[in-house]
Amino acid sequence: MMKCPVCKENKLGQITLLKGLPAHQCSNCNGVYIPSNAYMAWWKTLGKELPPKEGAIEIDPSWEVKELKLCATCGHIMARYKIFPDTDFYIDRCRNCNGIWLDANEWDVLIDRNLHDNLNEFFTRPWQDHLHAEETKIHLEQIYTDKLGEDDYANVKQVREWLNNHPMRGMLLAFLQAEDPYKI
Ligand SMILES: [Zn+2]
Ligand SMILES: [Zn+2]
Repeated sequence: MMKCPVCKENKLGQITLLKGLPAHQCSNCNGVYIPSNAYMAWWKTLGKELPPKEGAIEIDPSWEVKELKLCATCGHIMARYKIFPDTDFYIDRCRNCNGIWLDANEWDVLIDRNLHDNLNEFFTRPWQDHLHAEETKIHLEQIYTDKLGEDDYANVKQVREWLNNHPMRGMLLAFLQAEDPYKI
């Protein structure tokens, strides 16, 4: 008998998420548990990757159940993985049996963005590295905007692009940095 990782005592019921993808849902919190083998079997029938799209559902941070969860299959503590940069959207995954837990609404968000076929990618190094790089970029952009102001930040970005594409880039940089560019 599978118990809900969030509600603890509540039993999970059988559902069909998509044709060929059976899963287990809690009738109390609406969270969904997907066993790894069920997911892989469905994923292998796809044949091609679904192109990710923008999606219309706005992610609500209150959906996130932050407390520790135990895997519905094997009882191991599940690991939380952030999926989108600077967004409170985490998916829980069991490192023992690879089972996946989605809090209520999370599956709908993945479907909405055509990312429901990327579940196994979320937990890989490339996805997590890209996520961290995106977050760093967002934070630095925030710092530049705060310190320089929106207009000057826009200006300096334009100048940088112009410099980087200029065949005499080195001379231009030296000219800018020289205390007096007309002295040897
Ligand atoms: Zn529940
Ligand atoms: Zn497990």
